[in-house]
Amino acid sequence: MRYHSTRGTAPVLDFRGATLAGLASDGGLYIPEAWPTLSADAIRDLAGLSYAETAVRVMLPFVGDALTEGELRELCTAAYGRFSHAAVTPLVQLDHDQWLLELFHGPTLAFKDVALQLLGLLFERFLTGTDKHLTIVGATSGDTGSAAIDAVAGREKIDIFMLHPAGRVTDIQRRQMTTVLAPNVHNIAIDGNFDDAQALVKAMFNDRAFADRYSLSAVNSINWARLMAQVVYYFYAAVRLGAPERSVAFSVPTGNFGDVFAGYVAARMGLPVAKLIVATNVNDILHRALSAGDYSKGQVQATPTPSMDIQVSSNFERLLYDLGNRDGAALAAQMAGFEGTGAMRLTNMQSQGAAALFGSDRVDLDDMTRAMRWAADRAGQIIDPHTGIALAAARRLDSDVPVVTLATAHPAKFTDAVERATGTRPPLPNRVGDLFEREERYESLPGTFDAVTGFIAAHAQASA
Ligand SMILES: *Cc1c(COP(=O)(O)O)cnc(C)c1O
Repeated sequence: MRYHSTRGTAPVLDFRGATLAGLASDGGLYIPEAWPTLSADAIRDLAGLSYAETAVRVMLPFVGDALTEGELRELCTAAYGRFSHAAVTPLVQLDHDQWLLELFHGPTLAFKDVALQLLGLLFERFLTGTDKHLTIVGATSGDTGSAAIDAVAGREKIDIFMLHPAGRVTDIQRRQMTTVLAPNVHNIAIDGNFDDAQALVKAMFNDRAFADRYSLSAVNSINWARLMAQVVYYFYAAVRLGAPERSVAFSVPTGNFGDVFAGYVAARMGLPVAKLIVATNVNDILHRALSAGDYSKGQVQATPTPSMDIQVSSNFERLLYDLGNRDGAALAAQMAGFEGTGAMRLTNMQSQGAAALFGSDRVDLDDMTRAMRWAADRAGQIIDPHTGIALAAARRLDSDVPVVTLATAHPAKFTDAVERATGTRPPLPNRVGDLFEREERYESLPGTFDAVTGFIAAHAQASA
């Protein structure tokens, strides 16, 4: 399997190369040359398979000859063996046709573990036996940071530098990162907000000399391997609800468009998906883009769903490329326009292509609260606010097929917001144990390029 950049000029890479690179060198994102498909029989054969085995069947075509089937199975078994539920991503029924897909049974209690546990193992496998060393640099509004740190802590040949906005992540989120004391883990609290941290990371990748010297790599959802791992649970859930005979709709709490793009990939691979609902909070750039063709940045508003407080959705570029005839030059021009002015229109072809599969909804605080209360009072399920946004959108959909809401975080990660909405304070699961007694370690730095790159240069291994 070969991977192309959405902007058309970066080198074509295999799965190993695309995984290690993260971002393409022309500023684009890697995407498979063509979508592999699973026949109806192949989908039927997934019935009854374990999560890890489903993962092997779904991901093997994307891996090409970068790993053997046996090697992929070994990595999947290890990655998904760390989840606390035997089903890895269990389905819970809420009422006649509403379901929750619980994606938060991994080590750091958010859906990012599903992809990052595997990505950490892929990095290690691809670096073994080489003289390459990776420096992972990322910015987090909370969940990505802890999941990435858990996935690579203590691994040889990898250093991770994770920037979080000082004082703007929850105590649990911060402690899940800063109490990991492995020597290859470097937490940095940045004086600024999440966008400032993210801009610093982008500037480091754009400084080619710096990026090459330290072999920078990315763990946010611009990395293709993450999306690939997320395709699996769409198959796993839909098969349990009757696919390929019956189709299923999904409602996805959306920020960077990674999770829902994985659903799009599942549909392209042949899974009968009736609808993908892109659920946004009041930061609704994706809802405006999908309902009116208007992709234009506003001011980020802080909400109880910080992982969706976003005004630029990196992975949307992958959809625009795939729906725009895969024309890298045209997409590069469209994105340059957006980067220059903060606004762009979707082409007719992009809008019509999206409308065939996607719906979208903007959910405000009141509607989110109502959905969280409904889940608690009517179905006995305490859900986190991100899940609440998607459930509100799911319940507004007029559907004659089962609707699966992706439950992206454990409610205990957002205790205060959950208590405010439902009156119930969800306890921390036992497996996070003594999080509040453990020693924390992190560096506080001003949000400047020189301060952060200076710190990285002092602690990372440069390439020869
Ligand atoms: C990251 C995250 C999201 C958004 O997912 P994207 O792939 O960025 O669209 C939603 N909910 C939670 C809890 C998250 O951590």
